[in-house]
Amino acid sequence: MIDDLPFRLPDLEPGWVWLVGAGPGDPGLVSLLGFQALRQADVVVYDALVDPRVIALAAKTARLEFAGKRGGRPSPTQPDISARLIRYARERKRVLRLKGGDPFVFGRGGEEALALVAARIPFRVVPGITSGIGGLAYAGIPVTHRDTNHVVTFITGHGVTGDVPDELDWRALASGSPVLVFYMATKHLGRIADHLIAAGRSADDAAAVVSRAATERQVVVETTLGRAAADVAAAQVEPPALVVIGPVVRLRAGLDWLGALAGRVLDPDPLRVNASSAGNPFA
Ligand code: SAH
Repeated sequence: MIDDLPFRLPDLEPGWVWLVGAGPGDPGLVSLLGFQALRQADVVVYDALVDPRVIALAAKTARLEFAGKRGGRPSPTQPDISARLIRYARERKRVLRLKGGDPFVFGRGGEEALALVAARIPFRVVPGITSGIGGLAYAGIPVTHRDTNHVVTFITGHGVTGDVPDELDWRALASGSPVLVFYMATKHLGRIADHLIAAGRSADDAAAVVSRAATERQVVVETTLGRAAADVAAAQVEPPALVVIGPVVRLRAGLDWLGALAGRVLDPDPLRVNASSAGNPFA
């Protein structure tokens, strides 16, 4: 379907489901396999987080189905969505299940795939660029950097109950991982910060909140752990958003390549000692 490649991509065959990560926003970040699936699918079942520019890549003949909340109506439950995928596959349709970021990162892709296994539906998983890595890269924040961290931890700020997950070991997170990337965390940001500070993290640690990363409406708020919740409220940050805590945030002064496109002058040495507050417009 995609011509001119020096190798052959597998086809999305009738009766199959491909579980595809759409990446954080920019349609240029869709993989070749994801693009192939968009071109070949008879039906595309997509989530709220998928950028409309990605959905627009689907074949004109494809049936596009939204699988999220809309117009105040209750959202379909996970079993509903899985049942729909199974039904279409049994009708011999070529089914694309499209999810924001990566399907296996806080995206319930595993649950949907297991439902397909139980129903004996053949499937393929096409990873996507997760927002916690690729979205932060669009904000000029690398998740690792040799001079700052050898560890990065990805955390959901939202457990099954909708609250901050209670099995989190705050002490281990605070002391063991210089860089913490939180998904689904803006609602409980104040409590998350309190937990981390009580567990030994400094309130002065660099932090950033990246809203609608890699989309046309990306907003980045640079702050500190102690002030993050107040700054997010003041800036009226819109979901979806990521929260990143740790010294990598300071690198943004040098690596905000999108900002540079708009005229920002980048600092080639953003980590030098007296530049510690350089990335922080609130300091
Ligand atoms: N599977 C997705 C994550 C789903 S959980 C992935 O790999 O990225 C939903 C959370 O992801 C949101 O609450 C937000 O924290 C984050 N997220 C997803 N897309 C985002 C984007 N474009 N910008 C900022 N955060 C995003």
